[in-house]
Amino acid sequence: MQEFALGGVKDFEFNIKDPNFLNEQALWEEAKRVYSKCKDCRMCVTYCPSFPALFDAVDRHEDDIEKLSKDELALPLELCFHCKQCYFKCPYTPPHEWRIDFPHLSLRYKVWKFKNKGAKLTDKLMLNTDLVGKLSVPFAPIVNRVNNIPAFRVIMEGVMGVDRRAKLPPINSETFTSWFRKNRKPVKGENGKVALFYTCLLNYNYLERGKALLKVFE
Ligand code: SF4
Ligand code: SF4
Repeated sequence: MQEFALGGVKDFEFNIKDPNFLNEQALWEEAKRVYSKCKDCRMCVTYCPSFPALFDAVDRHEDDIEKLSKDELALPLELCFHCKQCYFKCPYTPPHEWRIDFPHLSLRYKVWKFKNKGAKLTDKLMLNTDLVGKLSVPFAPIVNRVNNIPAFRVIMEGVMGVDRRAKLPPINSETFTSWFRKNRKPVKGENGKVALFYTCLLNYNYLERGKALLKVFE
């Protein structure tokens, strides 16, 4: 499958039309294939919790991927939060013949998991950043305060599974799009147009960074 990404159109290892896409055995076989390359490379060990979880499991089984349990195969895919850092650093991504694509393998695992085991409310909320952002912005001062109360974080961890130590992004007092509509200025450049992919993080969490970015274009 091709997608537009940093550096242009990229070829990803994610074919939802493949008849084996949701086949559990095929999924674990693909995980083992990818893991067998990653365990010998280990370049991505510092990027996220997925790789340490994988390498710990491999080391527990003396380098034998075949001995990994289903839980051990699943954990690295569960922990991936799709930043794609490993994808852009990995020398073995498509079109390389090994076609290593860790984030899309994780995505495939999560599609399989949600289809077969359903999604928790927390997972649904975490994926719907627009809904969470729209509901939070009008109450930003309260949300920002409550999110930093240790007792609330303990409850949040118990109910939603959000680790009490996780640093939560602040909520903007207004969305970036609403601020931009009021403060729009002409941009420099040949045709006076700029495409800005502001993402949910600028829109709901980091308004000041959005303003700073716009200064570059003015
Ligand atoms: S994703 Fe690529 S670079 Fe990262 S550990 Fe695996 S094989 Fe190595
Ligand atoms: S895409 Fe997933 S596996 Fe790769 S570095 Fe990011 S979180 Fe880790």
